[in-house]
Amino acid sequence: MQIISETAKIKVAESNWIEAVELVRLLQEEGVQVAVAPSLESLRFITRDAWKSLGCSICDDGEGVLELVGDSAGRDAERVMTSMHVSDMQGRRVLVTAGPTIEDIDCARFLSNRSSGRMGVAIAQAAARRGAIVALVHGPLKTVVPENEGIFARPVRNAMNMRAAVMELIAECDVAIFAAAVADFAPASPCSGKIKKESSSKSLRVDLRRTPDILSEAGNLADSPFIVGFAAEADNLEANAEQKMKYKNCDIICANSIAVPGRGFEDTDNELLIIHRDGRKTNVPLQKKLGCAHRIIDEILSRT
Ligand code: C5P
Repeated sequence: MQIISETAKIKVAESNWIEAVELVRLLQEEGVQVAVAPSLESLRFITRDAWKSLGCSICDDGEGVLELVGDSAGRDAERVMTSMHVSDMQGRRVLVTAGPTIEDIDCARFLSNRSSGRMGVAIAQAAARRGAIVALVHGPLKTVVPENEGIFARPVRNAMNMRAAVMELIAECDVAIFAAAVADFAPASPCSGKIKKESSSKSLRVDLRRTPDILSEAGNLADSPFIVGFAAEADNLEANAEQKMKYKNCDIICANSIAVPGRGFEDTDNELLIIHRDGRKTNVPLQKKLGCAHRIIDEILSRT
């Protein structure tokens, strides 16, 4: 049996299928997408459906499982994976929003949130690696946009800038994924200089206005692309996410808890409940954000 990651080929003896499953889990935890090329013999131990339920893609020729023997096995599996799996987003144009927005109070102070932008960047990366043309509109990130991945990055600062960039690009897109944590309120009249703190005053009043709800606006466009939203919730995860999906007119909403430590907002890992408009739900167990990103793309592909 051969297991192939994007950079490594790993051979596992047929009889060692328990080892193979453990290895797959380990790779998935690291965010690696795993394709399996099982020999016919090994399918007695672990079936095609069982591999799929583990979240693996099967290398086959469209008619059945390839029997891969000897030295040519790796080459065949790579060829099949390249043609049918890694390129499964080929030709699709994907727009992703990521990161927080920064809403200036004056030239020194601002309102923002704890979002790192890692989830959105991982989605952009996964989509690009699977062949999509990707535009990433992002606020100030606590991570970097990887180079040489073919991601077209458009940095913005505040919610108004993000809205403008999204509205400019969205008509060209087949899929739009809104992973940004857009600040909900911005100072109504930001000061171009620095607000002085008067020694006599004990407080400062800053009037806030609502920022544009970019996802809701995009979801309610007459000719909207396939829309994926996020719902970061502290409680009632499922019910709140479903409500948000309807109100913002999303095709899919990815709900994640921000009440449980070790996932979400500032972390490298995430755990998701993906909810489709038709009520179908998929749990994505705790793993690297790149792994979650691949699962989101799998769900999009199941609908488009
Ligand atoms: O902040 P909220 O929970 O409403 O965010 C849910 C979804 O809406 C996220 O996908 C987020 O990117 C998007 N959103 C947006 N513009 C806003 C607020 C949220 O696009 N002003």
